[in-house]
Amino acid sequence: MSYILGIDIGGTFLKGEVLKDGSPVSGSETPTDLSDLAGCVEAFAEKLAMGCGARFSEISGVGIGCPGVIDDGTGTVVRAANLGLENYPLRAELEKRLGLPVKIGNDANCAALGEAAFGAGKDVKNSILVTLGTGVGGGIVIDGKLFTGNRGAGAEIGHMVIEKDGEKCTCGRRGCLEAYCSASALTRATREAMENDTSSAMWRTYTHSDCDGRTAFEYMDSDPSAKRVVDTYINRLACGLVNLANIFRPQVILIGGGVSAQGTRLTAPLQRIVDGEMFAAEYAPVEIRCASLGNRAGALGAAALFL
Ligand SMILES: [Zn+2]
Repeated sequence: MSYILGIDIGGTFLKGEVLKDGSPVSGSETPTDLSDLAGCVEAFAEKLAMGCGARFSEISGVGIGCPGVIDDGTGTVVRAANLGLENYPLRAELEKRLGLPVKIGNDANCAALGEAAFGAGKDVKNSILVTLGTGVGGGIVIDGKLFTGNRGAGAEIGHMVIEKDGEKCTCGRRGCLEAYCSASALTRATREAMENDTSSAMWRTYTHSDCDGRTAFEYMDSDPSAKRVVDTYINRLACGLVNLANIFRPQVILIGGGVSAQGTRLTAPLQRIVDGEMFAAEYAPVEIRCASLGNRAGALGAAALFL
């Protein structure tokens, strides 16, 4: 019997998954203790092992997904602002405490690997996950392996410019995909559309504070302002997806994060634009799908670092 543990570190919760002979068998979560992160991860790993009756001698490794800039070569957390970590040797610390091999990856990259190994991309070898949440993140899987670039700093899909000199982005540049296609950017665009059209159904129903990334989709069939917000959003996202498709030509691009709950309302028009604009579309098509693992993807992908 061989077990692998996968732990996804978040600012509020640690999420964990256990693989037995390569297949997921159980998962759980626990609150994150930021004052003693390594101790908290150590205790959680022990709990995960106990929960599925695994002896430590049967565990071949512990994979960790961590937000921020992660040097996956040295296992160092270079910078993770919301965990309060800088140049922290997390892998070395956990290997010392657990006495087991540990691998660490960026959380978004781990999520991409999780979807590729166990989720919506498991039938193909080349896939890209684009996560539409507070920011735009994701990861690139080539021939079943993560591509993270030099010192793990690459695959920052959200910081691809789609509008030269466009909206300001959190990275300091202008016009990034993240500045237009995060759930927060979608909410901001919805709010602006409501203000500019006070006869719209959105304006009558929602106030500034309670509209969110779902509002425009909800009203797109009855409210022209909402439809414009959705169309613009999808067009910009499609621009980023076509760029990714032209450079990497995966078999599938997976859409994850909160906005992906829109399902085919999102993926069908994206597919149409990608098919129409992509280079050699008929020769090597790219299918746009929704991701399927939700918030389990990160921990499953962290475990998959050992597969
Ligand atoms: Zn940016």
